[in-house]
Amino acid sequence: MTLLRLDNVTAAYGSSQALFGVDLGVAPGEVVALMGRNGMGKTTTVRAICRMLPARGSLRFDGQDLSRLPSFRAARLGIGLVPEGRRCFAGLTVAENLTAAARPGPWDMAAVTALFPRLGERRDQRAASLSGGEQQMLAIGRALMTNPRLLILDEATEGLAPVVRQEIWAAIARLKAQTGMAILVIDKSLRELRGIADSAVILDRGRSVWAGPMPDLSHDLTERYLGV
Ligand code: ATP
Repeated sequence: MTLLRLDNVTAAYGSSQALFGVDLGVAPGEVVALMGRNGMGKTTTVRAICRMLPARGSLRFDGQDLSRLPSFRAARLGIGLVPEGRRCFAGLTVAENLTAAARPGPWDMAAVTALFPRLGERRDQRAASLSGGEQQMLAIGRALMTNPRLLILDEATEGLAPVVRQEIWAAIARLKAQTGMAILVIDKSLRELRGIADSAVILDRGRSVWAGPMPDLSHDLTERYLGV
């Protein structure tokens, strides 16, 4: 059974085509790394999944055809997005940011602040006053408050100090181990992705060119498609 399934997805920004055929699957409880060099279409794939961009081909979530739904329904269906560049409501407090996103389920303020104690300590501070790492925790917390069945993390550790990055990875590892949440993760750190993802999909110039279990991701492949 697949939770998320993309088959031959194409998408364009106006007249400029960015995706030329993306196949991708995420099973319940699975962590999938979406990989590829800069500009290869990772964020565009996420936008297609979340209906932020018109796409063609087959996009199915939990058996439903995503391409027939307006974007707000994707969130309501159970897809929690942590977008690139973490966007929180700067003028709202931590608690307000979290409650604004809340949907019924096990992820509530107590669960999120247990995962990220620093959010609990700063609950009455405005998001604008948080450090970059804390804002990222808040962005993840907001996505969790929607009680998603699939969490999508687009460059959640970008621009953070190494020690803060480690905190984020540790939280993702706890999510995987303790909740079995399905996660689609984009990140530049191959080492961390190898440690956490069950499988990987590689994009090259808007196409998925390889997919398989993470242990099968060879040095040749990473050299060829990721430049490492
Ligand atoms: P990065 O790691 O740099 O974010 P990416 O793999 O996520 O890269 P995308 O951001 O999906 O890549 O970009 C795929 C292609 O679409 C690129 O050629 C990019 O220039 C183009 N593109 C991305 N966003 C837009 C946009 N808003 N308008 C027009 N073209 C865009």
